[in-house]
Amino acid sequence: MDFRANRRILFFTVFINYVFISHQAKEEVLLDMEATRGELGWLASPYEKGWDLLQNVINGSMMYIYSVCNVQEGDQDNWLRTNFIQRKDASRIFIEMRFIVRDCNSFPGGSVSCKETFNLYYMESDVDYGTHFQKRHFRKVATIAPDAITTKGEEHPNTEMRMVWPLTKKGFYLAFQDIGGCIALLSVRVYYKMCPGTVRNLALFPETVAGMDSQSLTEVRGTCVENAVSSDTPKMHCNTDGDWLVPIGQCQCKPGFEMGNDSCQACNGGFFKPDVSNGRCMKCPKNTQLSPKGSLSCLCEDNYYRAPDDPLTEDCTAPPSAPRNILTSVSGTRLQLSWQPPLNTGGRRDLRYSMTCERCTAKGETCQPCETNVRFEPQAKDLKDCTATVWDLEAHVNYTFWIEAQNGVSHLSTQRAVTSVTVSINQTEPPRVTSMTLEESSKTSLTVSWPVSNRHLARGGHYEVMYRKKVDEKSYTVLRCDQNSVTITNLSPSTKYVFRVQAVSAEGPGTYSSEHEFSTLPDADKHTQNDSTIIAGAVVGGLAMLLLVGIFLFLRRRKRSPHGRQGVEDTYFNPEQLKPLKFYVDPHTYEDPNQAILKFTREIHPSNVTKQKVIGAGEFGEVYKGILKFSGKKETPVAIKTLKPGYTEKQRKDFLSEASIMGQFSHQNIIRLEGVVTKNKHAMIITEYMENGALDKYLRGRDGEILAYQLVGMLHGIASGMKYLSDMNYVHRDLAARNILVNSKLECKVSDFGLSRVLEDDPEGTYTTTGGKIPIRWTAPEAIAYRKFTSASDVWSFGIVMWEVMGYGERPYWDMSNHEVMKAINEAFRLPAPMDCPSAVFQLMVQCWKQDRSKRPRFPDIVSLLEKLMMNPDSLKAIADFDPRVSIRLPSTSGSDGTPFKSVAEWLESIKMSQYCENFLSAGVTSMDQVVQMKAEDIRNVGVRLPGHLKRIIYSIVSLKDQTSTMSVFAV
Ligand code: AMP
Repeated sequence: MDFRANRRILFFTVFINYVFISHQAKEEVLLDMEATRGELGWLASPYEKGWDLLQNVINGSMMYIYSVCNVQEGDQDNWLRTNFIQRKDASRIFIEMRFIVRDCNSFPGGSVSCKETFNLYYMESDVDYGTHFQKRHFRKVATIAPDAITTKGEEHPNTEMRMVWPLTKKGFYLAFQDIGGCIALLSVRVYYKMCPGTVRNLALFPETVAGMDSQSLTEVRGTCVENAVSSDTPKMHCNTDGDWLVPIGQCQCKPGFEMGNDSCQACNGGFFKPDVSNGRCMKCPKNTQLSPKGSLSCLCEDNYYRAPDDPLTEDCTAPPSAPRNILTSVSGTRLQLSWQPPLNTGGRRDLRYSMTCERCTAKGETCQPCETNVRFEPQAKDLKDCTATVWDLEAHVNYTFWIEAQNGVSHLSTQRAVTSVTVSINQTEPPRVTSMTLEESSKTSLTVSWPVSNRHLARGGHYEVMYRKKVDEKSYTVLRCDQNSVTITNLSPSTKYVFRVQAVSAEGPGTYSSEHEFSTLPDADKHTQNDSTIIAGAVVGGLAMLLLVGIFLFLRRRKRSPHGRQGVEDTYFNPEQLKPLKFYVDPHTYEDPNQAILKFTREIHPSNVTKQKVIGAGEFGEVYKGILKFSGKKETPVAIKTLKPGYTEKQRKDFLSEASIMGQFSHQNIIRLEGVVTKNKHAMIITEYMENGALDKYLRGRDGEILAYQLVGMLHGIASGMKYLSDMNYVHRDLAARNILVNSKLECKVSDFGLSRVLEDDPEGTYTTTGGKIPIRWTAPEAIAYRKFTSASDVWSFGIVMWEVMGYGERPYWDMSNHEVMKAINEAFRLPAPMDCPSAVFQLMVQCWKQDRSKRPRFPDIVSLLEKLMMNPDSLKAIADFDPRVSIRLPSTSGSDGTPFKSVAEWLESIKMSQYCENFLSAGVTSMDQVVQMKAEDIRNVGVRLPGHLKRIIYSIVSLKDQTSTMSVFAV
């Protein structure tokens, strides 16, 4: 059978079964025999003997195949050469051949020369040789053998692929050499591979010709897609198979664009993206305007701002509102300011305060900024806490302080959040001497000096120096100095002396300096003297000294006459409590009390006094608010105490004695006497007016409104007043919150100085077995037991005042009877800490209630401790333990007849909280069984918000639960 005759059928079948091999990589075809579908015009050599072109129509299309089948003839060398193929960009080409090889055994009779392979050749060239063909120029690529051989009736097309590289010339030829086989070349496809153009990590990589050999990857640089950027050029590598490998770096979307589908898309309206990133666009934060498409940020709404460091993702914020309720407390030349934070923080947490000040002369004629003349503590600007202290204020000057609340956006706004307060400094405490220097010493003299305050001396102040032998704690000598140095002579050689100095001004003495020790020089003759002489000398000298001191003290004591309230003992000799030289004089030491009134008070003509309204009632008559007006001077609001008609002469004297005591005092925290009206039938005592009245009443119900450090500031004021009184050797005897008055600046002043008032006037006064009338709850045990009234007993009372103040006016020992109180105190029980009382403050109270009065702190100690607490608000953070069970003695454990409460209304009525009855009932709390189950949270939910009311109700419920508990107070 003629093989050629069979070829058409054979090729037809093969064509149908052909499956195209696809590659992920892109293939750039240089030659495709099948796709040409026409005459290829390849060159066969020898011509018309070897390879032959066949054509066939399949499915209406013309197919061309080259075949050769000279198996019988032997010595075959038939070449089929392609046309010149342009290389283009290829350097490595792939040659895919589809062919059929006929089994040599399938030929009848067989053939010795029959071959079942053919050879593939190539030749590079820069020119097209046309029909000019020379075998020797070709290089063999491979011998091609079929995987499957075609036998009779069973055709097996084969596909083989070979690669050729490197190619460098313009083009090339391929050639197929038949050496005696029966072969049909169905198709030849020549291509090179490309890595397809792609977008990876937002970088665009162009179509790239695959690398030439497997060792070398082609590095390709990408370019960022539109609206994307990259700091480093992104790269990828194209391998020989046309695959992308090893991406390095990436592009990111510009601000205002977000990633989507290998591209960067503008943010939608109302969204923004501030940075170069592949993150998503974010929704505009609060208080911003609706942003347009592609926004980098969202602009703040009017009156809202962003601080330079605020992230664009955060809400726009506003400046704060102004600070509220500035409170001031003046003590000497120092002013304590405190305020409440603004109601509106503007949505920020970086709230700070800044202070400025202006000083005006009292007449208001000249005003200047005063920041440079005063000292702010901790500082004037950038204050985090709502409190500051201003030092070095001058007397008789009005200061205005502006406190501005600021936050991180305040500087962007023109609005200022400022609150101001004006304070007049009426009185100045002399400066404290802080150091002493030994200028000269000899064996019998010492010259010491101290830094001088010019302002103090210029105002007519002087200094008082106290010195004593170090070993001799019992006596000392006091010298007045108008300069800042002193030479003391007649001292003992080789002896240590202790010095203290104190500035004294017209307003009174200042605080003592600390003790300084200086020694006289040794006696040069000492070694020539024998010991007995020294001892004798010392004895004589010592006796003489004792005698002198004794005489001095005797005279002094007589002068001070411990009469009436005075009762001061064992203080003058105690160096810890050195006294100023100015002492209070008991008006009773005057034979004619009118003399004391003349000496210590100023007479005011009744026409200068106008009564306006009754504000209180005392033992002697009504107390009025009124006006004091002297011609050419401003009106001053005053309190006017009157003596009611029908008084006896004794009552008149007692009434006016308060004025002659008050008139001797001049201190910021002691109520100031303006004057008296005595020449008229209706005697009057005129004092400064204290707008907020008595302290106990003022504090009641104000818990939560006044903060702990403000209470401590008030206590400090009271303690300063008491220190002044104790320095003057005055014992108050009736120190209690009801006898402290409060002005509009919340300054506290000690009042009530009458000599007989404790006996007559104070409703708390109770007759004791020793005959006196004593305010039991406020009085130290030794004063109750044997009338030992001293500054130490005033310290006890001060402890009770501390408790009243920290408890917002709570009655000491609640509703215990006086008898129960005395019994409890004698059994060493003491009041427990008030609720929310700083631990340090409670500790001080407990110290004031030491049974042994010599162990109680003294007023200077109390003042300096309270000062330290005020300077360091953190010290008030630790809260003393509080046990409501020992703090309550409300009449709420049962109805007045001792039976349990029948209704919620009755119970609330008993604790004076009826205003919440409706709240309880409408919350469904209708029985006392429900009430006792309530927790603090439940009570709050019912609508009780005020801390004082909440506390009162909680106390009462605790008490209701603890019906059987008897009074137990804090045991020390
Ligand atoms: P006294 O007789 O001093 O206890 O005063 C009786 C009441 O009058 C006090 O409790 C105060 O409420 C009021 N009072 C006394 N002095 C003043 C004052 N200087 N300023 C305002 N109120 C005062």
